[in-house]
Amino acid sequence: MKMLILISLVPLSCSIYGQEAKTVKNINEKKVYICNSLTSKSYHYKKHCQGLLKCKDTIRKVSLKKAINFGRVRCGYEARTEEQF
Ligand SMILES: [Zn+2]
Repeated sequence: MKMLILISLVPLSCSIYGQEAKTVKNINEKKVYICNSLTSKSYHYKKHCQGLLKCKDTIRKVSLKKAINFGRVRCGYEARTEEQF
């Protein structure tokens, strides 16, 4: 019985691992939107995001890697929307 549990867990951990590797690989290619304002702390996947609408400065399209390097975090609005799916 113990063996069965162990086997069933393997594909699950593999898929999580694979997903992580994919994210890291795409970090240079993935484009996100950031508000150029100094007070802005987040990046957005969607150009028409609610959070970006508040931006009074220039909206820039940069790679996800750059956005993270700038110290930007995932937009709160978008993270919430994704949870609903
Ligand atoms: Zn957003």
